[in-house]
Amino acid sequence: MLYLDNSATTPILPEVREQMFTYLENEYGNPSGKYYKLATDSKQAVKKAREHICKLFNSTENEIVFTSGSTESNNMIIKGVADYYAKKGKHIITSKAEHVSVLDVCIFLEKKGFEITYLDVDSYGRVNPNDLELAIRDDTILISIIWANNETGSLNDISTLSTIAQQKNVLFHTDATQAVGKIEINWAKIPGVGFLSASAHKVFGPKGIGISIIREDEYKQSIPFTPLIHGGGQENNMRSGTYAVHNIVGFGEAAKLANERLIQNSEQMKLLESSLTQILKNKFNDHISFNSDDKKKIPGVVNVRFIGVNNEILLKKLAPIIAASSGSACSSSKPSHVLQAMGFSLKEVRESIRFSLSPYQSLKEMKVFEQL
Ligand code: PMP
Repeated sequence: MLYLDNSATTPILPEVREQMFTYLENEYGNPSGKYYKLATDSKQAVKKAREHICKLFNSTENEIVFTSGSTESNNMIIKGVADYYAKKGKHIITSKAEHVSVLDVCIFLEKKGFEITYLDVDSYGRVNPNDLELAIRDDTILISIIWANNETGSLNDISTLSTIAQQKNVLFHTDATQAVGKIEINWAKIPGVGFLSASAHKVFGPKGIGISIIREDEYKQSIPFTPLIHGGGQENNMRSGTYAVHNIVGFGEAAKLANERLIQNSEQMKLLESSLTQILKNKFNDHISFNSDDKKKIPGVVNVRFIGVNNEILLKKLAPIIAASSGSACSSSKPSHVLQAMGFSLKEVRESIRFSLSPYQSLKEMKVFEQL
């Protein structure tokens, strides 16, 4: 079976697994403990992992806050900023093509009296910077825009969008979950971004661990927000809870490898993607159309419409040989809101499939499509 649902989750690399085992077997100490070796070893392991993650993003160590994944990071930041700045304003801007863990938080906040502007997106799912500029108001407290779309791979121009936010003095968050390990994310070069969400299991690390990156100013002050989880005060009081050391160590190793292999991995995914699209074109020519842009996107995501064919029926038939999906695993029971925001009819949405590749796959493996 060829696994082409890497946008949903990736397998854990052997190097990552090996590092994690140590902290599942012998090294079980709580990093918040003091004096004895089991605790200080664990503390050291968390620090080392944090360093690897910082290198991948070019952020500082204090700016990394461990969470359980991007869903939590998105909740933490949007709810946290909304609560902290509610007296200043109650307007938030996002887009119609966000992940549900952003959209559902916005719907929750609407019920609490916040006003949300959902920006339209173009036919590839991207936000137009002019639309953002026009939507900003005096009472806007936060803008949240996805970096790379999880269904189409389309990239938003985060540098331009966050600069607009900065010029208007509005906080900016980006959900970078799908961009990590596929394009360079240089935190130091996007000063307009105040908050970023990412998750380990999209970059060959374990599930249940992610980060929020929270911008520090020149006086080492983090942008304030109300914590989502209160308790022991870990992570500078921004996210309480005992450190999941094995997961953090796994994320650290996955980040180290993603950083070292960024160029080679993205080149390999480009190669695989062009091979896959060529095979699909040759095989199905007029019966398919591509929903992903071939330029401003992350490599490795091919969203394609099989004209006149129901995607659920096709996916079920493919399942013994190819594992793929109709879009986001987090909203798999509903027709894609992303494709609908891009202007697709419900019928077109129900004919669309996402194939998402891994840099650890080979050209030879793509040949399975020729046998369909
Ligand atoms: N945002 C995006 C863009 C995603 O693709 C995902 C994972 N499907 C999430 C957020 C949620 O991440 P996690 O599974 O780590 O909670």
